[in-house]
Amino acid sequence: MKGTNDFYKELIQNAPCGYAYCHTTFNSEGEPVSHKFLEVNLCFSQLIGLDESYIVGRTTKDIFSTMGEDWEAFFNDVSSKNNKTGKKYLKELEQCYEVIAFSPKHGYMMVMFYVITDEMKTIEKYNNLLLATNDIIIEFDENYYITDICTSDEKKMFIPKEKLLNKKIIDLMDQAYIPLYYKALDEARITEKAVEIEYARDNQWHRAEIISMRDINNKIYYLAAIYDISKQKKAELELIKKTRELEKVFKILPGFLCICNTQGKILWANNAVEKMTGFSKKDLQHKHIYDLLHPDDIQHMKNEMTKTEHSHFINRYICKEGLYHYVSWNCYFDRDEGCIYAIANDISKLKAYETELLSQKKFLRTLIDTIPDYIYYKDTDGIYLGCNKATAEEVFNTHEENIIGKTDKELFKDEEIVDIIASQDKEVLTLEKIVTYEEKIRLDNKEFVMETMKTLFYDENGNISGIIGVSRDITTRKNTERKIKESEERFRQLADNIDEAFWLSTDDKMLYISPGYERIWGRSCMHVYDDLKNFRKYIYDEDQERIFSIFEKEEYNVEGYFNEKYRIVKPDGTLRWVWERSFPIRDENGNIVRRAGIAEDITTLKIAEEVVARTREEMIRVELKKKSMELEQLAELDKLRTDFFANLSHELRTPINLIFAALKMIEIDDGNTIEQKNVSSKKYLKIIKQNSYRLMRLINNLIDVTRLDAGFLTLNSSNWDIVDIVKSVTLSVAEYAKNKEITLNFCSDIESLMTACDADKIERIMLNLLSNAIKYNNQGGEVGVYMSSNENEVHITISDNGIGIPVDKLEMIFERFKQVDSRLTKEGEGSGIGLSLVKSLVEMHGGTISVESTFGIGTNFYIILPIRLIEEDEDDTWKEYEQEDRDSSAIERIKMEFSDIYGLKI
Ligand code: ADP
Repeated sequence: MKGTNDFYKELIQNAPCGYAYCHTTFNSEGEPVSHKFLEVNLCFSQLIGLDESYIVGRTTKDIFSTMGEDWEAFFNDVSSKNNKTGKKYLKELEQCYEVIAFSPKHGYMMVMFYVITDEMKTIEKYNNLLLATNDIIIEFDENYYITDICTSDEKKMFIPKEKLLNKKIIDLMDQAYIPLYYKALDEARITEKAVEIEYARDNQWHRAEIISMRDINNKIYYLAAIYDISKQKKAELELIKKTRELEKVFKILPGFLCICNTQGKILWANNAVEKMTGFSKKDLQHKHIYDLLHPDDIQHMKNEMTKTEHSHFINRYICKEGLYHYVSWNCYFDRDEGCIYAIANDISKLKAYETELLSQKKFLRTLIDTIPDYIYYKDTDGIYLGCNKATAEEVFNTHEENIIGKTDKELFKDEEIVDIIASQDKEVLTLEKIVTYEEKIRLDNKEFVMETMKTLFYDENGNISGIIGVSRDITTRKNTERKIKESEERFRQLADNIDEAFWLSTDDKMLYISPGYERIWGRSCMHVYDDLKNFRKYIYDEDQERIFSIFEKEEYNVEGYFNEKYRIVKPDGTLRWVWERSFPIRDENGNIVRRAGIAEDITTLKIAEEVVARTREEMIRVELKKKSMELEQLAELDKLRTDFFANLSHELRTPINLIFAALKMIEIDDGNTIEQKNVSSKKYLKIIKQNSYRLMRLINNLIDVTRLDAGFLTLNSSNWDIVDIVKSVTLSVAEYAKNKEITLNFCSDIESLMTACDADKIERIMLNLLSNAIKYNNQGGEVGVYMSSNENEVHITISDNGIGIPVDKLEMIFERFKQVDSRLTKEGEGSGIGLSLVKSLVEMHGGTISVESTFGIGTNFYIILPIRLIEEDEDDTWKEYEQEDRDSSAIERIKMEFSDIYGLKI
């Protein structure tokens, strides 16, 4: 037995096939985990290309993992069951191996490797071919003589066996195909690959698949599998014939038309295919339709073309620029004819449109989502199909997907709103046109005014698909509109009621003019609406040129402002002054589009202006006159002053001259007798004395006037009997009157009257008036003093029938430095300050003095003094002394006062 074992071992070791023995380990579930090599023979290690020492101890996984197939599964499958044989092929380095595995007992496995030679391979293929087809396999030698014929089913032989034997393979075809056949045989021999050729004999069509082989003597022989393709070919030819007929039409079809056999080989293509792909018809005949496709689309097209009779799909084909165009295919698989009609339309543009459309759709979606209005659409049953973002978020506070599929009833809680919407929808569906609604809606306790526009949308057949609604919250707009309306109304009321005329116009049309126009112009507003020219038609002739020239000016047409006053003629012919102002209203480009203006009647104002102007002129004139009079008066006063001083110097010089003359005379008198001397001295002394009095009087008057002006001349009042004072002064001058042969009378209604007065000053007043009455009297004239009184006043009148005072001079006699006329008074010259002093003294007593005179007849002076008493000491003995003093000095004062009257005897 041992010898036998050794013999087998030796046999295995030297066997021409590979041998290996493995041990399998299993997991707890009894599944094989690995197969470890226990021993291998020389052939195995040679076939695997690894040393025996390397292989033994390693697992099948280690050795076979690089071999590309799932060998481990194969080994697992064999080893999992006893006595199982597995067969598997391995193709490595152009070699083919048959691997047989066998598990003789559990846990052990034998693996055998056989090299499959080319011959074996061919035979196998041959067998496979035989099994796979119902056709004939013909074997022929290198001289093309048929050596064997074989078929799986004799009955199916379409060429009688006897017809074939001892014939050349080329006898089986028409002459025309022989060269092609030779060419195919050469190709099969050289390439050692199967070559396909189609040929015909007597209208019988065959296809041969030829391979070249070598027998054991290394002689070449061929195997040809022949199929009868007559039916198919006939159909193809028929098709081509038919197609030729249609070709003329198809050729010029703009669409892509291609006829292929079932393998996809292009049999015919129209011009469009050439044009689109850039391949010539000849090129195309050697191509499959798949060659024209985008690699990614080939499988899809294959599936589509075999699956159904009709198929429609879209994929890409190559075009001549090397780019791919999108085409829409319509394929028809004609099983009877054995061909495929492939019609394609270039839909690249359509695809581009589709992309464009998609982007437009996206854009539109973005657009409606950006629109703040509420946009929504629903089907005819009121079920929402969609809405924009504003509707979803603001109205329903959710997302669009939660709206879709719902109804208004489900979305709005408020039944009132649901009813409103339902009635709107119903109306739109009935009217089939755009309808606009404005509704007040309460939503979340807030009131909104909603403007809604609803319309229908239709499907491609023109049937109503549903309603599109666009709603807008116009609450603010409504409120604004209301406010505008109110303010418009207020404006209209204002415009209607104010006197000014407002207007708004374009350059050739009046848009609005307020009723003020009718009041000012006295013409209807309609007149202006009819023709804008009428607005300035009634400008007064004299103003027309000035006004119309403005409209011609560039300034008016560029700046647009107008501000002018002009006269208009009313229908009754009267003139009114109008003040018109207007300004431009411009558009966004700065062009004047409107003019707005206001006009008012300023006639009254104009008249007032004229009156004011006239009054001002008058006032200026009066003022000038006053000023010139003042100037005159000043000049006169100045003259008076000059005259006065001239007069005064004369007044002063005259008595001094006389005094000097008298003194000289006294000196000259020295040669005279004493009697003579005495007489002349007396005479000259009298002159000296009289003129000294005159000087004294003059100086006293000047001093008093100065004191009066300075405010130093004050009253020294006491209660005196005024009748007594006046009477005694009158009587004291009696002698002077008598000298001038003037009768002096005193007469009083009252015997005595006590009143507070300055006795000295009353005396001065009386002396002055009396001396004037005598001075400006004629010889034989009369002077009278008359006294009377009432309850409050005492009246003293001093009258004379002397030369009198001219009427025009009467007013000025109380003014200082005025003498009525020196010529008339040359007899009794004076300074002209006496009466002014008298007036001041009377007024100091609170009294008045006035004069009445008739020139040439006489003069009356009236003095009125208030009667009043002052409180005095009981003891008034001082008065008696004062009276005495006054009496004693009275003569001097009289002499002084009367010193003017010449020829006075003293
Ligand atoms: P005179 O010192 O010159 O008398 P008066 O002031 O007393 O100045 O008088 C002013 C002038 O009034 C006199 O110069 C005289 O022309 C006029 N006049 C005054 N009294 C009379 C009168 N009784 N009759 C006429 N003329 C008088």
